[in-house]
Amino acid sequence: MANVTLTDARKTYAGGFEAIKGISLDVGDGQFCVLVGPSGCGKSTLLRMIAGLETTTSGKIDIGGRIVNEIEPAERDIAMVFQNYALYPHMSVYNNMAYGLRNRRMPESEIDTRVNEAAKILELGALLQRKPRQLSGGQRQRVAMGRAIVRQPKVFLFDEPLSNLDAKLRIAMRVEIRKLQRRLKTTSIYVTHDQLEAMTLADILVVMNGGQVEQLGNPLDIYQKPATTFVASFIGAPPMNLMPLRDAGGFQAANGDGILGVRPEDLIISADAPAGGLKLDLRVEAIEHVGAETYVYGIRSLTGDAPTVSAKPGELPPGEVIVRVPGTSAPASASASVP
Ligand code: ATP
Repeated sequence: MANVTLTDARKTYAGGFEAIKGISLDVGDGQFCVLVGPSGCGKSTLLRMIAGLETTTSGKIDIGGRIVNEIEPAERDIAMVFQNYALYPHMSVYNNMAYGLRNRRMPESEIDTRVNEAAKILELGALLQRKPRQLSGGQRQRVAMGRAIVRQPKVFLFDEPLSNLDAKLRIAMRVEIRKLQRRLKTTSIYVTHDQLEAMTLADILVVMNGGQVEQLGNPLDIYQKPATTFVASFIGAPPMNLMPLRDAGGFQAANGDGILGVRPEDLIISADAPAGGLKLDLRVEAIEHVGAETYVYGIRSLTGDAPTVSAKPGELPPGEVIVRVPGTSAPASASASVP
């Protein structure tokens, strides 16, 4: 049981590159914190600083009321689960899970109890004598989690643990991890670049960009009230529609400038805008049927100059608007409105 508190944590790598530019964060006991952000934003670096695998250049890292900056990884009472599983190929599943405990000279009877208990939770009971190569990717990932569980650490640290799995298994394992964490109530910090994984797992979501925190909070609050255009376009798939206010029909910001953000599901397709609504005329460019819903990609007919919102990775190209329609039908042409 432990809080994890970071106070103005910074990391400058040997070459002088500042990867973490002062991050403060408080993860309460038993909470599930997810660090999300694009490649290179520093999420792995931050996690490794908490684990003690990277030194912290300045600031404080506190685990369970103890400043751990100068404490060795093995003494921090954390357990880490990696993307590549890091299993010993020549050892059985049982021995992979027991290894860390044996190193700590735990009595064999206690090791046996813990390994069997973890195997039961993770449904690995029938596989304990197998070697990692005789397991599927999902089973290997479960062994990696088992190895973390048997340690009974204060904190779990996950570094993109599901990245090597196929899409279907990722979803299944995501749900398993959430259930497991609820059951064990172990404070967890989880790194991913997958915004959906982040949204669904997190009690506290930390959206990172360029070594800093862009926004931090409850995932739904962040979804509904993104603090920056970066967060608006990073969280949510398909991404939020961002358009310069002067293109957006009836709306004008006080100073005539600004950006309007509308989630694809907040637009409706209708002939006329509801009273007081904003109407956008769209030329439909593409329609994607994904089953329960349909994404309509349109180009809005702009009044005035070319739009000033430029597309960054993950953002929509200028002028493009996505409308998310429930069901499988979509019109050939449309006008979308914000009701
Ligand atoms: P990804 O999702 O691609 O793993 P990330 O958000 O985890 O990315 P980090 O691995 O933490 O990013 O890297 C953050 C930044 O620090 C990157 O710009 C990276 O190039 C740089 N970096 C990482 N390790 C080192 C190192 N040992 N020396 C110098 N720079 C490094």
